[in-house]
Amino acid sequence: MNSATNDIILQTNKITKKFGGLTAVNMVDVEIERGSVKTIIGPNGSGKTTFFNLITGVLPPTEGSILFNGKDITNSPPHQRSQHGISRSYQITNIFPYLTAFENIRLSIQGHYLKGKIKLSDIIRRAGDIEVLHNETYGIADIVGLDPVRLFVPATLLPHAEQRKLEIAMALGTKPSLLLLDEPTAGMSVEEIPEVIDAILRVKERFGKDLTVILVEHKMDVVMRISEEIIVLSNGKKIAQGQPQEIKENKDVLQAYLGSTDEDLI
Ligand code: ADP
Ligand code: MG
Repeated sequence: MNSATNDIILQTNKITKKFGGLTAVNMVDVEIERGSVKTIIGPNGSGKTTFFNLITGVLPPTEGSILFNGKDITNSPPHQRSQHGISRSYQITNIFPYLTAFENIRLSIQGHYLKGKIKLSDIIRRAGDIEVLHNETYGIADIVGLDPVRLFVPATLLPHAEQRKLEIAMALGTKPSLLLLDEPTAGMSVEEIPEVIDAILRVKERFGKDLTVILVEHKMDVVMRISEEIIVLSNGKKIAQGQPQEIKENKDVLQAYLGSTDEDLI
């Protein structure tokens, strides 16, 4: 592997997903540099979530390949990709509602350690293990800025922004090198959005080059604050890629958003 390949954490080659007659993702090529923050935008139904599902292995592609750290993972199952460092949060909040925030995070860390390797009875064999686990849980909660007072409240009672931060914390529990965030500010009030953006920025600052982030996001002010580069999908195709300012002025992008029911691009 030469150094140029080394700097690319994720590469897709003509990745395609068809659902019957509908091509949700159409021959998409991307190269994601290690440690970067990229945003995928595109009108509703343009294939953003499907693209994430292909990267995480939730869906098999119809065509094309995916390389992660230079290795072909096109046919690897989701749990293997997670073990190798790919983690995600969902567009729809996905937490254990009646467990506390603390337990939600701890479970994600435990799940990562234990996957297929250790028997359930080994989970808390030594008191020291639990202490390490708990310290790690507190550490992650702190990075995303979860309110410590609320860590022991059932997750379902947390305000929406805190639930989103909890999901990011759970994704971090699996020690990812690639974090995929699907619309982390979806359904959020104007006051809540900065809280989640700050959490993402803090995570990025804490892990630096060791963490690459790809997010799907609609709100252009959020995109502008967080991302270095934007990839635009429309009808499953990649129609543009570039710096936020270039994308805002790109004719194809503006055209794709015309008539869309999404919020205005600008
Ligand atoms: P986005 O996240 O950009 O809004 P999606 O990736 O969710 O778009 O969807 C892209 C297209 O694929 C849409 O037309 C959607 O209806 C379709 N689609 C997504 N998932 C499935 C599925 N499991 N079965 C059939 N069609 C799907
Ligand atoms: Mg989506």
